Amino acid sequence: MSACHDCTKAAATWHWGGTRLGCRGCEIRDLATMPKKRRDEALDAAAVQDLEAARALRREVRAEFDRIQALKAGMAPKGPAT
Ligand SMILES: [Zn+2]
Repeated sequence: MSACHDCTKAAATWHWGGTRLGCRGCEIRDLATMPKKRRDEALDAAAVQDLEAARALRREVRAEFDRIQALKAGMAPKGPAT
């Protein structure tokens, strides 16, 4: 995944709040960190557009959610300093 400045920061900082418009990594992270109700609504809306794409998106959002939780708990190694 290509990383923008915000994605690079978020790789090592679980509570990084920045997002870049048009960056898929930021979009995924935004979805992963929003309240569950809003996330489900957004994913449901995406599923109406394209079910297969929405399933892939849901998997990516789940993985990002888990990564952030692990980082928050101090279990994940920090990403490479780029
Ligand atoms: Zn990004």
